Parts: sequence; C-alpha cells; structure tokens
Amino acid sequence: MRRGPIAEINLSAISHNLHLVQRLVNTRPVIAVVKADAYGHGAVPVSRKLLEHGIAILAVAFAGEAKELRESGIDAPILVLFDHGDVKDYFELDLIPAISTVDLGIRFSEEARKRGRPICVHVKIDSGMGRLGLFGDDVVENVFRISEMPGIELSGLFSHFSEADLADNAFAREQLGRFLHVRERVRKRVGRPFLAHIANSAAVLTFEQAHLDAVRPGIILYGCSPFPARSDPRSRRSSVEFRASGTDDRRHEEFGENAQREGDFLPAMTIKAKILDIRRVPAGTPISYGRTFITKRPSTIGVLAIGYADGYNRFFSNNADVIVNGQRVPVVGRVCMDLTMVDLTDVPGVTTEDDVIIMGQDRGCKVTADELARRAGTISYEILTSLGRGAHRVYVEAR
Ligand SMILES: *Cc1c(COP(=O)(O)O)cnc(C)c1O
Repeated sequence: MRRGPIAEINLSAISHNLHLVQRLVNTRPVIAVVKADAYGHGAVPVSRKLLEHGIAILAVAFAGEAKELRESGIDAPILVLFDHGDVKDYFELDLIPAISTVDLGIRFSEEARKRGRPICVHVKIDSGMGRLGLFGDDVVENVFRISEMPGIELSGLFSHFSEADLADNAFAREQLGRFLHVRERVRKRVGRPFLAHIANSAAVLTFEQAHLDAVRPGIILYGCSPFPARSDPRSRRSSVEFRASGTDDRRHEEFGENAQREGDFLPAMTIKAKILDIRRVPAGTPISYGRTFITKRPSTIGVLAIGYADGYNRFFSNNADVIVNGQRVPVVGRVCMDLTMVDLTDVPGVTTEDDVIIMGQDRGCKVTADELARRAGTISYEILTSLGRGAHRVYVEAR
C-alpha cells in the first residue's frame, strides 16, 4: 500500500558508514545486521550495497527475511539470528542457523543426515541477555555436544550484550568474560576454527576487547548512534524526561574519544511528507483532535500527509519539529492517523509544492532519529523501523 511519506535512502551513506566500521575493527569480517528490513531501510538494496563493499555475512532475525534476500538473487552467507522456522528452509536456501538449544542441534543434525549434506551453524550463548541461547553450568558441554553431532559443522559461536548501549560497562565486561571462557574451552575441544562474535554497534565504537573474530553491527551502518541521545538544548519542551538517570553523560566522558566517532557516521534515511493544504486561520483556532493547540495569532497551518499509521508517533503531538525550506517549524495539535499539522506562519512563501522534511537535514538544519527518539521516549532503532517501514522508499547515491 502506498502511503503518504517518502523515505529517501542514501546508499552512499551506508557504504561510508561501513568503511568507518571496517577501519575501527581493523578489517575483521563484518556480519551486517539487516533485520527488520534493514532497520526500515529496505533489506535487499541495503544488503546489495553492503556486499559490494565487502561484508562477510548478512544477519536477519527470521528465515522469511532470508528467503526474501535469496529470492532477489543475493547468494552471500546469511545468519538467521532468532528463528529456526522450518529446518528444511535452511538447507534449501543455504542459510546459517543460530543454534540456541541442544534440541535444535538434534533437529538440524537429523535433517543433515537425511540429506547427506552437512550444515554450518553458529551456536548462540546467553552470557547475560536472558533471551535466547545456551546457558547454565553445562554450556561448554552442550556446545561440544552440538559440534559433535553428525552433519553439524560449528562455524561460529556468538553472544549478545544486554546493555546494548554499554551504559553499564561493568556488566558488559562480565558478559564478555563469560563468553571468552566458553570460547577458550570450546576451542580446546573442537579441532576446527570458528568465528566468535559478540560486538554490536556500541561495542564496535567503544569496546575494542570485544571485537574478537568478527563484529555484528546494525544501527551504526544506518548512521544512527547506539547510545541514547544526550539532552538537546534545542528541546523546547520538558515533557520528554524519560530516562532514569544520567548514565549516558558519564559514559560519554568515559568513552570520550571513541564516542566522538559517532559524529562521523552519516544518517542514511530522510523522511519527507507532502503538504496537502495550507490554511490561513485567525487567532483562537483549535487545531486537531482534543483541541490541544489553539492558535495565539493569525496563523498559517500546513496539513501534512503523514500520521501515526506511517510510524509518526502520536507522542510527537505538540512535541516535534519538521523542516520546511531549511527552517524548523513545530508540529501543532495531535498527530492523526494519516495527517499532521504544522505551524508555517514564520516560513515565507511556502506552497503545497514544497516537501517537508520530517527527519533529515536541509541547509544546516536537522532533525535526527535520536532527537525524535528522545521526544517520543524511545530509541532511534524504533524511530527508524517505524518511519522507514511505513514509507514509500526511494534510493539515492549522494554525499
Ligand atoms: C540487533 C542485533 C544486533 C545489532 O545491534 P546494534 O545495536 O544495532 O548494532 C547484533 N546482534 C544481535 C543478536 C541483534 O539482535
């Protein structure tokens, strides 16, 4: 279904970001995370671009996502992080399963035997995330058991940080310690080499000891920060104080030098919306549901073709800016399902021919995913996936 907004995806920004990652990790293999339709950027074009620039493995959440990549002709290795789906798919589509239980190992082993064809697997260790993966005292024993199963070739061992933003560095170190312990013991017992990986974007940026044999970044490839945004002096309203503590500031001090590298990453997604109507209204005019905004002066109100059904969160009601002709203007009134109103009174000469930038930049004026995340009380990941997946996507190559 073709909805209102347009997502302009800058593929050059994605290759630029990948190059920065490659520099930071000293040419270690990159396992590029393209789950959730490449964080809303479109998994097929993004994967093609990343492969052109030398990533080793693509990682998706579900087998269905891998199927879409295969159907579009992508033949690179694909690691499926979460879903074992139908075991047969893994053989037919040549996918790498993440084995998170001994039972799952047995199922893949049986299928491999039936087909007379071995399968490469990555075994997943729960080192403190409390989600999927082998855990408990018999982890090493179980990894070894899986690696010994007929038809199973252990080609990777991985884990995931629960402090995705590494706000609690001490816990991340503890997780890394547990994972390294497993890796060492497994290494001694399993003859063949395998890739050990644990580093998400935050670890790529700030935790070099965790880079290990390969890294597994997502969000920084798309040019957003894995760290929660710091308070923005431009934030006009105080209703978005959602964070429990100031840990992020402390972390930025701790990681000062590396954290600055975030600034070099280029956001790849711009969201634009059409202006459906421009209305001149007198002072005292209520705008949108619930009359939460009433004009204080004779005003020019723009009606935009974007709403919460497009992933433009209702929390942006009276609580976000958009960019019109290089100028920031506020959202006024509640965000509706398909429409959002903005105050254009201070923008001279605006017409319904002008596009409005919901997220992106124009002439030095920018609205980032991090800013929107802070305002909506969420993280940039959710902003990218909701806006990117709701929009009609177009691809550009531009610096
Ligand atoms: C999403 C995900 C990543 C990537 O995380 P970022 O914070 O986006 O870098 C890596 N590994 C696993 C298992 C994930 O689920």
